[in-house]
Amino acid sequence: MSLLEVEGLYASYGPVEALHGIDFEVDEGQTVAILGPNGAGKTTTLRAICGMVDTEGSVSFDGESIAGKATEDIARRGIAHVPEGRGIFPTLSVDENLRLGAHVRKKGDDVADDVARCRRWFPRLEERSAQTAGSLSGGEQQMLAIARAVMMRPRLLLLDEPSLGLAPILTRELFRVLREIAEEQSTTMLVVEQNASLVLEFADYAHVLEAGQIALSGDAAQLSEDDAIKRSYLAY
Ligand code: ATP
Repeated sequence: MSLLEVEGLYASYGPVEALHGIDFEVDEGQTVAILGPNGAGKTTTLRAICGMVDTEGSVSFDGESIAGKATEDIARRGIAHVPEGRGIFPTLSVDENLRLGAHVRKKGDDVADDVARCRRWFPRLEERSAQTAGSLSGGEQQMLAIARAVMMRPRLLLLDEPSLGLAPILTRELFRVLREIAEEQSTTMLVVEQNASLVLEFADYAHVLEAGQIALSGDAAQLSEDDAIKRSYLAY
């Protein structure tokens, strides 16, 4: 059994069908990337897993169906979602935002240890721990949103365009940190990303989504050698 199993998943916004029956699985501990052009349905795939859009078909997490469940219930089961464009609390401090990330966890966990670990992974957040989140740069807000999701100690972390708004050097650093988090905390990750070359270096497996359907799937290393992928996504 895989940690996440998606079968025959359709998603729509009113009359607009954005996903036309997709199937994929994410194994425990795996890092999986979703690539594809604008409007292909990448964001919708993450939203569908989180119960944020109308769906048909089956989505199961850890062997239980989560299709049709409320977003809060899905989060409580251990799925953290970092949407495109962040979603932090701008008037709260960096530290307060981090601690809020821990609030869906069961009591008794050591939140202070996790804050310390997040500060090690994201040293810029430590420098700015007392500042309000709204005063951070775009890239720092992005890191805070990811760090806050990590504070949930999710079993599955869904990341939508984590590199959005980050300078290339910070993007590279972010994927290095994500790899460390995946390994240290055994966090399974599903990442939507436009920066195909970096995400294919980072991920174990990848799917290419085109017009609401999966056009191609494979080991990330193999896909990065695929001629069609190179032409369309790696700018060769
Ligand atoms: P991008 O890289 O531009 O974010 P994407 O692959 O994430 O693209 P989605 O945002 O999932 O694509 O959009 C898939 C389709 O659903 C598109 O045709 C889009 O226009 C449509 N869509 C997305 N959000 C809405 C909405 N709120 N209402 C109506 N249609 C929507």
